[in-house]
Amino acid sequence: MSLDCVVIGGGAAGLFCAVKLAQRGKKAAVIEHMDSCGRKLAITGKGRCNVTNNCDALTVMNNIPRNPKFMFSALQGFAPADTMSFFEGLGVPLKTERGGRVFPCSDSARDIVRALVKAAEDAGVKIVYDRAEKLIIRSGAVNGVKCTGGEYHAPNVVVATGGRSYPKTGSTGDGYRFAQQTGHTVTAITASLCPMVTREHEECADAMGLSLKNCTLSLYEQGKKKPLFSELGEMLFTHFGLSGPLVLSASAHMGDTNKKRYTVKIDLKPALSEKQLDERILRDFSGFENREFQNSLVKLLPAKLIPIIVKRSGIAGDKRVNQITKSERLELVRCLKALEYNILSLRPVDEAIITRGGVRVSEIDPGTMASKLCRGLYFIGEVLDVDAYTGGFNLQIAFSTANSCAVHMA
Ligand SMILES: Cc1cc2nc3c(=O)[nH]c(=O)nc-3n(C[C@H](O)[C@H](O)[C@H](O)COP(=O)(O)OP(=O)(O)OC[C@H]3O[C@@H](n4cnc5c(N)ncnc54)[C@H](O)[C@@H]3O)c2cc1C
Repeated sequence: MSLDCVVIGGGAAGLFCAVKLAQRGKKAAVIEHMDSCGRKLAITGKGRCNVTNNCDALTVMNNIPRNPKFMFSALQGFAPADTMSFFEGLGVPLKTERGGRVFPCSDSARDIVRALVKAAEDAGVKIVYDRAEKLIIRSGAVNGVKCTGGEYHAPNVVVATGGRSYPKTGSTGDGYRFAQQTGHTVTAITASLCPMVTREHEECADAMGLSLKNCTLSLYEQGKKKPLFSELGEMLFTHFGLSGPLVLSASAHMGDTNKKRYTVKIDLKPALSEKQLDERILRDFSGFENREFQNSLVKLLPAKLIPIIVKRSGIAGDKRVNQITKSERLELVRCLKALEYNILSLRPVDEAIITRGGVRVSEIDPGTMASKLCRGLYFIGEVLDVDAYTGGFNLQIAFSTANSCAVHMA
């Protein structure tokens, strides 16, 4: 079969691009090296798939910390409203939740995967389960893809191989190799939306598994007063440090941890001012006057946090509550309002939700996703050096870049 286009990667961007191409009459094949398409898509949003954000294109750009301008045309051409119409048009009803996050009403990411794969099959996309090994280049233009099982020739090749995070889903970073094969620059590959390793990891390990549902987490760069990030939400203690939604979101605001130092401060009682918290502690203490300090925090804190806070407060655990001084109490309040951790690094990129870095965007036409270095070659989705905060923005990047590429090629 003669093909107009070979798409490498049957993930969010690749499948979407192939559907759009085939719907416009192009003969497209998707090469996927896992035994099914959309393995990463199926685990997005904790299995619920936060498929986009119900906002305008400009708001998406404001949620892209690196290279937002590159996304301008793609988002003008295909905005979140278009993503929502697309999936609803495929028979997947959607709902909008807190912060504009859009999910399928079924809360099942598999419904999104199934809809995309079915749309691809219905439109006549050929899905080939094989591993792309190398681009075939002739006279400075791409001419196809060499796979483990054979060669696929086409005048257009789209690299939609994703990044390097969660490699078990298939995104093993092969796209960077294809980019380098054609002279493209690949910027440093690191993690974003990633758990954090703390200097106080032993303390975190003691609280391992503890999830705080209603705390405020603020991220600071050393030497700066204003937090880089501060939000109310949920976080988790782990054996190496900190994880959970707030921590992942905060990590996207960090630079290179080898060059800059960061701390996070956790406000365990964000609904109370220091004064209100002090009054609350006084009330608790009055009921426990003869208890030891370490046994007086049961109403205030989850059990796993008590030894940590006792130690950090500097008050002896066996001190009688009625002997605790006002200044000791105020130190306790300070600990509860700003439980501080020093961040040593992020966890490895394998454990990140998103890869930071990728194919340098100045070498890609932002209106078409075409390579400026090799005719017929395109890059879409996470393989590009663009990444966003949480909220459905990363999948929107995949769909918008895929759309630009398909519209241009067709
Ligand atoms: C746990 C988790 C949760 C997430 N949740 C969300 C969320 O709720 N909302 C959101 O917006 N984003 C979320 N993301 C990010 C989102 O999944 C990615 O941004 C998106 O999948 C990127 O799409 P892509 O098509 O570029 O890459 P991928 O979806 O990774 O697809 C790449 C495909 O290429 C294939 N491939 C790679 N190399 C080859 C090769 N050599 N030959 C053949 N095939 C190859 C892979 O097997 C894969 O199927 C989440 C990510 C993770 C890890």
